[in-house]
Amino acid sequence: MEAKIIILGGGPSGLSTALHLTKIAPHLTHRILILEKEHYPRFKLCAGGLVIDAEIILERLGLDVREVPHVDAQIAHFDFAGKGLKVRAPKRPAIRVIRRDEFDHWLAKKAEDRGIEIRQGVTVKKVNPDEDGVSVETDQGEFRAEIVVGADGSNGITRRCIFPNEPVYTARVLEVITQDYSVIARNEAIPNTNEEIASGWVSKRARRSLALLDQHPRNDVAVFDFFPVPNNIAGYTWDFPTQIGGQPMRCWGIYDTNLLAGYKRPALKEPLAEEMKRHGFDLADYEIKGNPIRWYSPQNKASVPRVLLVGDAVGADPLFGEGISIALGYGATAAQEIAEAFQRNEFSFRRYKRRLVRSGLGQTLVARWLITHIIYPLKWKWFQILFWRMLKPIVLLGAWGFVLNWSKRNFPL
Ligand SMILES: Cc1cc2nc3c(=O)[nH]c(=O)nc-3n(C[C@H](O)[C@H](O)[C@H](O)COP(=O)(O)OP(=O)(O)OC[C@H]3O[C@@H](n4cnc5c(N)ncnc54)[C@H](O)[C@@H]3O)c2cc1C
Repeated sequence: MEAKIIILGGGPSGLSTALHLTKIAPHLTHRILILEKEHYPRFKLCAGGLVIDAEIILERLGLDVREVPHVDAQIAHFDFAGKGLKVRAPKRPAIRVIRRDEFDHWLAKKAEDRGIEIRQGVTVKKVNPDEDGVSVETDQGEFRAEIVVGADGSNGITRRCIFPNEPVYTARVLEVITQDYSVIARNEAIPNTNEEIASGWVSKRARRSLALLDQHPRNDVAVFDFFPVPNNIAGYTWDFPTQIGGQPMRCWGIYDTNLLAGYKRPALKEPLAEEMKRHGFDLADYEIKGNPIRWYSPQNKASVPRVLLVGDAVGADPLFGEGISIALGYGATAAQEIAEAFQRNEFSFRRYKRRLVRSGLGQTLVARWLITHIIYPLKWKWFQILFWRMLKPIVLLGAWGFVLNWSKRNFPL
């Protein structure tokens, strides 16, 4: 099949590229083909935390993410060992938490509603650009395109085909889904034996955890805790509210940029187990899943003639491993580059990386890369305490100026 634009991967970056193209170059809509190896709704390991920029980008596309099942975390805590900063977003929750199977399926349907063709269950095996176009080998035959967008994630084949020898910066990440605090507390309160039932028994521990729940309702709070940094884990543990099938749940995890990989480090699950234990959960009771995240470095390459990369294929945020809003942002910048390339009938994509770096997205990525190289290597406990607990106004100003709100600055559309 011959399409003008083949997008490899139907995650947020690929779908955002297609949706932005339909907005700025509607005449190209019917020449876009997305190839996705899975079938929606497909599982994607991700905590699903959406920051304000993701919502702003979707709103500009006329999309309301509240249509997707979600849980709102009104406050985000950035802590060191349980104490630190509280962040709220004006007029919105600090973080809206979705499940990726539902979110990506919803976004794919929106793209299809706008006339974009998505072929599901097609795995791309090889990408070969030449002077006149690009051949895409898949498990279902060969496709030919004028240009290709590699939106196939951290381990994507596109990047491996066009930059086989480039260095890769990846973070290690583990994730665990558990019941909600209230379920744990209530389960503990259930009497087990006939005597306990007859006497209306409620265990001391259960009473304690129910009382704790009243005092500290973490249900609408997302927590990032940087206590593992002095132990050479250049990252944090997280604890987000979430839902599965409408049931309240928690999503826990640990993120490590690997920046302190040269030092002695504990196994990644040890600090995660420690944090969960502090809140009454035993990691051993749950299934742990892991996946690398490829993160952005100014050295990362983003295009060759006729092929450009978006999303994790270029690099997610190194500071937190936040990649959904970033992926949506890449889509907007790539769409503008593609629309102009078709106007000029010139597909070198030589200026794509410069365009990325000058955009609000590129500026936040560079800023986050710099901050990552300051706050993690300065790993001493005293510095981490100073940073997360005492420098509140400076950290909040920095966060608002460089980390969040980037979609309002120098956005391509
Ligand atoms: C444990 C974990 C937790 C995370 N938590 C958060 C969070 O809370 N908030 C946040 O913003 N980010 C989070 N991230 C990062 C976020 O998941 C990614 O940055 C984001 O998914 C990147 O989007 P993408 O479209 O570039 O890639 P992906 O979402 O990975 O999409 C790539 C798509 O390409 C398809 N594909 C891959 N290979 C092929 C092939 N050969 N042929 C055809 N199709 C292919 C895949 O099936 C997939 O649909 C987390 C990541 C991990 C691992």
